[in-house]
Amino acid sequence: MDKVVERFLEYVKINTQSNEKVKTSPSSQGQWELARKLKSELEEIGLEDASLDENCYLMATLPSNTKDDVPVVGFIAHLDTSPSITGEGVKPQIVKNYDGGKIILNKEKNIILSPEVYPELKDYVGEDLIVTDGTTLLGADDKGGIAEIITAMEYLIKHDEIPHGKIRIAFTPDEEIGRGADLFDIEKFGANFAYTVDGGPIGVLQYENFNAAKAIVNITGLNIHPKEAKNKMKNSILIGKEFLSMLPAHETPSHTEGYEGFFHVISFGGEVEKTRLYFIIRDFGRKEFERKKKLMKEITNFLNIKYGEGTVKLSTEDQYYNMKEKILPVKIIVDIAEKAMKLSGIKPNIVPVRGGTDGARLSYKGLPTPNIFVGGHNYHGRFEYIPISSMKKTVELIVKISELIYEKRDELKKLFN
Ligand SMILES: [Zn+2]
Repeated sequence: MDKVVERFLEYVKINTQSNEKVKTSPSSQGQWELARKLKSELEEIGLEDASLDENCYLMATLPSNTKDDVPVVGFIAHLDTSPSITGEGVKPQIVKNYDGGKIILNKEKNIILSPEVYPELKDYVGEDLIVTDGTTLLGADDKGGIAEIITAMEYLIKHDEIPHGKIRIAFTPDEEIGRGADLFDIEKFGANFAYTVDGGPIGVLQYENFNAAKAIVNITGLNIHPKEAKNKMKNSILIGKEFLSMLPAHETPSHTEGYEGFFHVISFGGEVEKTRLYFIIRDFGRKEFERKKKLMKEITNFLNIKYGEGTVKLSTEDQYYNMKEKILPVKIIVDIAEKAMKLSGIKPNIVPVRGGTDGARLSYKGLPTPNIFVGGHNYHGRFEYIPISSMKKTVELIVKISELIYEKRDELKKLFN
């Protein structure tokens, strides 16, 4: 299974940073380059029906090796890396037998990965870590996931004694800019359920995420010379401040964690006549989420009574929903992942995602898709690293999940028919 490392080190050489400003799919040429390379690799190791569509979605099949009827599982990872830091010229370094101390990523620029700042490093004393040179991200998110899925498929091909049903794999573009699920052809994929391999440290298993909406508040004021402004001027900046002050002061990102939701004002700008506020709203509970949107509506109504109809205009738009609603009816797919972890000696860490995943969007499109770990830490930054042992464990986990799906086929068939 050392091939997982070899593969990963190959993939990170290709810059696949996505770009929000580009409207095409994929948003960057590097993603085509990686997808084409992967396609030939999939064919080489013996997967069937490898297809790369016009939007850069790569899919392939590992056929069933049994006569039994087994529901089809999918494994999904994404091709792109985060726009937040460059993915050009990634030069991974391997720290062998980590001693628990500071890791000098870049001597010249004095960039240090320190367990004082990242205490989880201490969990990996004695292990081999793949780190950056301090100037780029690493790209374990999600090239780690790609390397792990392919290596697991290769393992299953070489170990035909492990019975499994049909397995579909997909590598998607532009996850980091929120478009990974947009052009995903669920029908063509043809899986009954799937797992995204896109989570953080070893053990992570996720099937709950935020419900999400954005909200824009536009306030129209009335300007007039201050000397004759009494009872006439309507300062939209002050009305904006009033709007903000009516939101619950403790429901912000800096006051919440775990299952707690929030209102997050991202921008607030204006002049006397025009002010605009931009918010995101997040909550795990659908009721709480709706309550948050309703509260903003009621504040808007109140201010319009106070300052005149049409002074405040609110528009909200839902972005994605908590996949839990779609996963709970088929919870066995989470239980399978959990059991597979235990059988592979991994301690499951079931945590809610304080964000969205492609799996959440796919779940609402009809493909229930929880998320499992890739094994990396500190994604989207120069301090990103991944322990080699965790990568190997993910490979083992994917194999084990495939095996358990075969074992649980009768229970699964009742749900997916
Ligand atoms: Zn990712």
